[in-house]
Amino acid sequence: MSEPKKLYIKTYGCQMNVYDSERMSEALGGQGYVETQSPEDADMILLNTCHIREKAAEKVYSELGRFKGLKAEKPDLKIGVAGCVAQAEGEEIMRRQPLVDLVVGPQSYHRLPELEAKTRAGEKALDTDFPEEDKFEKLKNRPKAKRGPTAFLTVQEGCDKFCAFCVVPYTRGAEVSRPADRILREAQDLVERGVREITLLGQNVNAYHGAGPDGDMTLAGLIWELNKIDGLERIRFTTSHPNDMTDDLIEAHGTCEKLMPYLHLPVQSGSDKILKRMNRSHTAESYLRLIERIREARPDILMSGDFIVGFPEETEEDFQATLDLVEQVRYGYAYSFKYSTRPGTPAAERPQVDPQEADDRLQRLQALITRHQREIQDAMVGRTVRVLFEKPGRLAGQMVGKSEYLHAVHVSGADLSAGDLRNVRIKASGANSLAGEVL
Ligand code: SAM
Ligand code: SF4
Repeated sequence: MSEPKKLYIKTYGCQMNVYDSERMSEALGGQGYVETQSPEDADMILLNTCHIREKAAEKVYSELGRFKGLKAEKPDLKIGVAGCVAQAEGEEIMRRQPLVDLVVGPQSYHRLPELEAKTRAGEKALDTDFPEEDKFEKLKNRPKAKRGPTAFLTVQEGCDKFCAFCVVPYTRGAEVSRPADRILREAQDLVERGVREITLLGQNVNAYHGAGPDGDMTLAGLIWELNKIDGLERIRFTTSHPNDMTDDLIEAHGTCEKLMPYLHLPVQSGSDKILKRMNRSHTAESYLRLIERIREARPDILMSGDFIVGFPEETEEDFQATLDLVEQVRYGYAYSFKYSTRPGTPAAERPQVDPQEADDRLQRLQALITRHQREIQDAMVGRTVRVLFEKPGRLAGQMVGKSEYLHAVHVSGADLSAGDLRNVRIKASGANSLAGEVL
């Protein structure tokens, strides 16, 4: 038997890219590839890129430059670029970096086997189409091998919202939902392979409206169907848009026992003027009211969010409104970014905030978020949480897992395996994790 070819795949950016990398690796598995953790061993290197923030393309070019020596030593090595930078830059990548053999966008990677074969025949391969066919249908045969207890599952892709700062509608295309039966089949397969927690993914996952047996299904409908799968213990979903938090989804947070009490609900700013200029189509007040309703349904829910500071024309007063909103919500986690210009988006042409001012605001926002995060985490000490254990910790005899609130929890000296779900009493709160004992 011939040696399997080796694939080194490096993933940048969001969880959706993590899922896509898994599917790309499986697609190339059919071509005789197995994954390697080292680019030096690889017969193919694939960078699965992200275009969301500044200088994304430049970073990809500099990463590619580092493979020059490898390619010189091993002329058969194939180098590919996938993901949103591939979509945005297209052919330009091969022009600027001739060592690239393959460029594939996020909507066409089911064609990787043909593209790879083309590179083996000595040709360059490029595919950045938004094809009509269903990528996931073409990719449907997932391997049956055992895997870890948590998995991502993409249910919805693309976005029609066109926030003024964001490239996603251009790189991922229009909003599309996968049919419910295919998702349920994939979830069932994942559970048979050892998965106990599934995180449903979508750029606007709560806008999900995939075909179901009686017309379109909502995300809540899909969650209730997943709730019936024996062996699946936990359901999460990300990322949501405030305008798509429907009543049935809010209610599910109070009534669906497998749906975890954690919600990532980006708001971006606390200033109505800025929200309007961002084209967010919600106000700070409507967002706060929404959170009130979600907390009525599930009082202990841990909220998470995204913020952009230094958006064009943001004043100190606008920024103060963001700090006020954060004070009111008290996020258990939140991600904050300095606005970065994305060419081709509406905000790119507008007057920019002084970069030092934006840096200063980012630091002040992050200090406040970190304080709340720490307080919320520290308040877990003395409580009993349910932990899904995922892997050994850094210390001997230690296992790490996640609580229902997504806090990392360490336990030492207990007889535990990956996939175990146990009640754990929290004894201590560290910088980024909790420590406890199994009850
Ligand atoms: N669809 C999701 C949403 O509406 O929140 C996620 C989109 S994006 C992949 C994730 C986050 O990146 C956004 O919530 C936003 O905070 C941030 N982001 C997007 N474009 C940005 C930009 N041009 N500058 C800074 N941050 C940006
Ligand atoms: Fe980007 Fe806005 Fe769509 Fe989220 S909702 S992906 S931030 S355009």
